[in-house]
Amino acid sequence: MPTQSVPATQPIAITAGESLFVLTGAGISAESGIRTFRDGNGLWEEHRVEDVATPEGFEANPALVWRFYGQRRAQALTVKPNPAHRALAALEARLGPERFFLCTQNVDHLHEAGGSAEVLHMHGELFRTRCSDPRCPKLPFHDERHDFPTLPRCDCGALQRPHIVWFGEIPFEMRRIERRLRASHLFVTIGSSGAVYPAAGFVREMLYRRENGEHVRSIYVGLERPENADAFDEIRLGPAGTLLPGLFTVQD
Ligand code: NAD
Ligand code: ZN
Repeated sequence: MPTQSVPATQPIAITAGESLFVLTGAGISAESGIRTFRDGNGLWEEHRVEDVATPEGFEANPALVWRFYGQRRAQALTVKPNPAHRALAALEARLGPERFFLCTQNVDHLHEAGGSAEVLHMHGELFRTRCSDPRCPKLPFHDERHDFPTLPRCDCGALQRPHIVWFGEIPFEMRRIERRLRASHLFVTIGSSGAVYPAAGFVREMLYRRENGEHVRSIYVGLERPENADAFDEIRLGPAGTLLPGLFTVQD
């Protein structure tokens, strides 16, 4: 079935017994003032992604990487959730944890600030730090430091690193994500360019299931058509903060 262009504000009905999987990307935080990748012509806040968001970049220049994430932390401490984050929190409260699942590629904390109770951060979290030695028993911890006069080190002596999934690394909790995807009837992606895998491939799983006769649907909500647009049943174009409030209707 070709992807349908649907009036962006036409309500999305969640019928009795249906459950929802929501995947968010940098676009949902754009109206809160956090820039997406796409804004920067291939640069992320004036940096090459390879320099600040890969294990090789950290190895080559950990001071630069910590300075970069320190700036991201300082900026994130000043921003507030927007109506899109709050709309998802309200939907979670309405549907409950069995019927609603929120997975974000974002490392910011705006879903939580907007009232979401459970958020799976598949690419890690800006305000968490861990030891860079995978053999070290020390667990990742909450960390709001954003000035790094010296490189932060773990008690074991190894450098600490941001608890972020960099390019080339495997996202967190893929098994739980797979399980919840398989249990969902409706898959909605909000504000993601559809260029970063494996997240960009989740919609394909829904497509295969539909082709196998299951009643499942997938909808994209965002400013422009994502790279994986063809795999969605519907594309709703517009800013998330305007479209999301009131977009879902729940029947039980
Ligand atoms: P992306 O930057 O590649 O794409 C952002 C998408 O959001 C674009 O398709 C754009 O059209 C859309 N968009 C922009 N403004 C919007 C709005 N107001 N409403 C709806 N959509 C809007 O981001 P991505 O697909 O999430 O993937 C990039 C990677 O960037 C992820 O791994 C993520 O960890 C990282 N990242 C995270 C943040 C954050 O945590 N806020 C910010 C930048 C990058
Ligand atoms: Zn350690």
